[in-house]
Amino acid sequence: MTTPLPIDTVTARPSAGADRVTVVLPWDQDPTLAAFPRTPAHGQLLVLETRAKVHAMPWHRQKLTLIVSSVRHFVEERRAAGFHVEHRVAEDYASGVAAFASWAKPKALHAMAPKEWAIDQRFRALSEEVPLTLHDDGGDGGHFLTTRDEFLSWVKGRKQVRMDQFYPLMRRKLGLLVDAKGKPEGGQWSFDVDNRQHARGVSMPKVPWFAPDELTKKVMRWVGREEIGSWGALDTFGWPVTRTQALSWLEHFVDSRLADFGPYEDAIRSDERFLFHSLLSVPLNLGLLRPDEVARAAAKKYQQGQVSLASAEGFIRQVIGWREFIRGVYWWLMPGLRTANGLGATRPLPDFFWAPERTSMQCVKEAVQSVHDTGYTHHIERLMVLCNYATLAGLDPRAVSHWFWAAFVDAYEWVELPNVVGMGLHGTDAFTTKPYVASAAYLKRQSGLSAKGRGPAAAKHEAPCARCAFDPDLRVGEKACPFNAMYWDFLATHRERLSKNLRMRQLLTTLDKFGAEQVAAIAKTAAAHRDTLKPFTPPWAFHEDQG
Ligand SMILES: Cc1cc2nc3c(=O)[nH]c(=O)nc-3n(C[C@H](O)[C@H](O)[C@H](O)COP(=O)(O)OP(=O)(O)OC[C@H]3O[C@@H](n4cnc5c(N)ncnc54)[C@H](O)[C@@H]3O)c2cc1C
Repeated sequence: MTTPLPIDTVTARPSAGADRVTVVLPWDQDPTLAAFPRTPAHGQLLVLETRAKVHAMPWHRQKLTLIVSSVRHFVEERRAAGFHVEHRVAEDYASGVAAFASWAKPKALHAMAPKEWAIDQRFRALSEEVPLTLHDDGGDGGHFLTTRDEFLSWVKGRKQVRMDQFYPLMRRKLGLLVDAKGKPEGGQWSFDVDNRQHARGVSMPKVPWFAPDELTKKVMRWVGREEIGSWGALDTFGWPVTRTQALSWLEHFVDSRLADFGPYEDAIRSDERFLFHSLLSVPLNLGLLRPDEVARAAAKKYQQGQVSLASAEGFIRQVIGWREFIRGVYWWLMPGLRTANGLGATRPLPDFFWAPERTSMQCVKEAVQSVHDTGYTHHIERLMVLCNYATLAGLDPRAVSHWFWAAFVDAYEWVELPNVVGMGLHGTDAFTTKPYVASAAYLKRQSGLSAKGRGPAAAKHEAPCARCAFDPDLRVGEKACPFNAMYWDFLATHRERLSKNLRMRQLLTTLDKFGAEQVAAIAKTAAAHRDTLKPFTPPWAFHEDQG
């Protein structure tokens, strides 16, 4: 596929200020980053779109729209601010910079270190050939709160790291919810145990989606052409594509959703796809928002007495704890993380990840449908529905990771890969102590379904199990929820590995009480379900390194 990107601005040869040119990658849309010139007199910008990245994966149509549209809005804004912006189409980022350098011959090129491993490698090689300075993407002048080296020196000598060891360091570093002595507000670092309620019957504010403007509509028309976008609904696009829109989302979130974020952060609802989640990963990962401003906005609401500590802390932990930790882990474990497969899982991705109507498991169908419709599902559906399913069914982590990377609007390798392969599928135990697996009992609990609550009348339309073809209370047989049989079968299959973990050992004791006949019936039910899975050979390839 060689369809050119439709950029219609003809670039002019750089003039005044061309001595210093900043290369802007799509996720660096923040002019306060160290690589950017402070005024138009201090330098120009080079913004590249690349054919290789557009065709690297079957991107969700909304993701392609989001990235291309936001980059083009950024170009417009910088031009309006007086900057000379070269906006070009290149085969890939590195060759685009090389071609520009030999054409414009700038004295100095600056860029933020690319957030993606393969592009980072190519930029480092390129900096040997052209006068390119790479600025650390963390610490002062970086997007992240720590430099890559700071994280790497923290992990040095450790075989296993955990987020809860890292998180207090970040709270102290930012002075967020800590006293003068560095002690945590409320006497503890995490209030997670208070944050596990179901959201049955709870009403919530609607997401303030943005109507696409002319520029976005133009990109949508291009993406809608058959040979470009590969998957997902396009006409429902409403993601923020500018910093102004991103800031208004942040304000809306802290004003109207943050107060309930904590208690319902792990809830599942069929009829509410976004619950009280912020949806801020999308603008954050493009650089339209900075993690410290997001965390401080939440802390301010707590200090003003408008939200509880459990909600503010719960949210702040995600942004300055999990997000930073995951990004550190990526640079620590790459490139081996791409092939990590600690559980030896090899089954190909079943067809229903691309066609949700092909599964009868209601919770899986709803989560995939959500991704199809918006490029998004919330954390618990990612972890405890989709990845839980993938782990229990023995799906190949790399195939699952490719799907997440292509299908989610907020997915970039640095964040998707550690979350999917490490946290979701336990491909490595370097930063999680046990697999995140659960039976249907967990899904029932998080969707507020009582033991006798099946049926549309009891759960209205809120709990997926209430309308599922399978019975969440059965463990064996044709009607049994596959999560149940596969869960216990998984414990039996990986017994030796899991018995090293205290919490898993307790579950293995329960399994032992089932007796040989029941365990055999469980294995048979699980195998029968796995036999129904139809692999799907997509008409597209996944090029992890391309771009
Ligand atoms: C299997 C799996 C895949 C994931 N893939 C991605 C991904 O591709 N891109 C992505 O940004 N996040 C990913 N996450 C993390 C998390 O699920 C999303 O950040 C979150 O769901 C985004 O929605 P939100 O903005 O409404 O989050 P909220 O629930 O409102 O959380 C607030 C913010 O915290 C940050 N955050 C929370 N948890 C994590 C985490 N584990 N890793 C990194 N950041 C975190 C995000 O920036 C998020 O915006 C993944 C998690 C799992 C389990």
